[in-house]
Amino acid sequence: MLKDQDRIFTNLYGMHDRSLKGAMARGHWDGTAGILANGRDWIIQQMKDSGLRGRGGAGFPTGLKWSFMPKESDGRPSYLVINADESEPATCKDREIMRHDPHPLIEGALIASFAMGAHAAYIYIRGEYIREREALQAAIDEAYDAGLLGKNACKSGWDFDLYLHHGAGAYICGEETALLESLEGKKGMPRMKPPFPAGAGLYGCPTTVNNVESIAVAPTILRRGPEWFSSFGRPNNHGTKLMALTGHVNSPCVFEEQMSMPVREIIERHGGGIRGGWDNLKAIIPGGASCPVLPKAALEDAIMDFDWMRENKSSFGTGCMIVMDQNTDVVKAVWRLSKFFKHESCGQCTPCREGTGWMSRVMDRLVTGDAEVEEIDMLLSVTKQVEGHTICALGDAAAWPIQGLIRHFREEIEDRIKAKKTGRMGAMAAE
Ligand code: NAD
Ligand code: SF4
Repeated sequence: MLKDQDRIFTNLYGMHDRSLKGAMARGHWDGTAGILANGRDWIIQQMKDSGLRGRGGAGFPTGLKWSFMPKESDGRPSYLVINADESEPATCKDREIMRHDPHPLIEGALIASFAMGAHAAYIYIRGEYIREREALQAAIDEAYDAGLLGKNACKSGWDFDLYLHHGAGAYICGEETALLESLEGKKGMPRMKPPFPAGAGLYGCPTTVNNVESIAVAPTILRRGPEWFSSFGRPNNHGTKLMALTGHVNSPCVFEEQMSMPVREIIERHGGGIRGGWDNLKAIIPGGASCPVLPKAALEDAIMDFDWMRENKSSFGTGCMIVMDQNTDVVKAVWRLSKFFKHESCGQCTPCREGTGWMSRVMDRLVTGDAEVEEIDMLLSVTKQVEGHTICALGDAAAWPIQGLIRHFREEIEDRIKAKKTGRMGAMAAE
């Protein structure tokens, strides 16, 4: 378990002063100009050595991503864009940073931008995050007033401006290229990749898009050293991580832990256990709506990290776990997710626009038991035709929960169909 002194954000949540004075008392903004004086290559190498993988869900190595930015300008400005459009169902970890500890994010924005040759960065914040927006803007204003941002930021010789931009409630704007379109004032629709943003991003200029947590941990990594950060977790899954527990645990929460902790230990230590005890667990969705559901049988030795989840046909995602007890109608839960993805599809590519509609309509019949058993395989085949055939990951995200449901709970779906045919559906609901 992570010791208090190794927690970056959550030690004092709700009990400390989030202002610049309070942040400085906790060591933030300490020697920032000295960090920059080590140079761009040093910073990027330290980030690579730390093993930090992107905390937004995909887990792409952060230092490597920073290294894709051009070393020399070809006349185009470079940009850092921070993705604070936290919209994944059950995910509310970045919100805690912005609400309670905004200065590490602002300091991280300066350091990351310097490392990538950017004189400007944008934080694109979810429209619904109003209190977080206010806290963040107040912190940005304080940093400007103190000379930490703006011309000769932190007396480092680097000019740097940071802008806060509000989203307007579209889930798809959390996809990095849709976010860039939205930031440019256009409808938030994902772009084809490649080119990746480092080649052509905001306004066609070199851009890196990073998650809030990825940027906010950077100053602490650089102060305490990459070896400290990589001492947590296991190879390829290093570091500390903000995670969350929602659903049928006794104490839903956001917490900070080391990577690769056993799922059971996380639930018991941080969530106060499953409502009704571990034996009452039915399934989890490990890290947001797009991660395939895993049944209890698969969870006895499960650990929370990118590689374990991938090897076991799910994904770590944002690390914000939905816990379902035995009373949960898992078919209905996935049916609800299928509605979500259908609603949030931007509709520009056919497999996603039509596929999410198909999947959700078949799920309508499965959830009421009105389908034929053969439709389960037909639905699986539709998910395969969507997966990997779309412009952005939303198509995959819509397909995977259904694939997970069929993989682990086929019997439950079939029972429901049979019960409907034999008139037992009402009795099943009451059981
Ligand atoms: P992705 O794997 O396509 O890309 C991840 C990052 O790596 C991107 O920044 C991308 O530009 C970069 N990248 C990948 N391959 C590259 C290459 N060859 N060269 C250069 N850069 C490369 O994933 P994604 O579509 O960005 O994100 C999907 C994830 O987002 C899902 O796993 C989901 O968990 C997560 N998600 C999170 C939220 C949230 O609220 N935090 C919301 C929706 C989805
Ligand atoms: Fe839009 Fe869906 Fe295609 Fe993504 S996969 S671009 S959300 S239609």
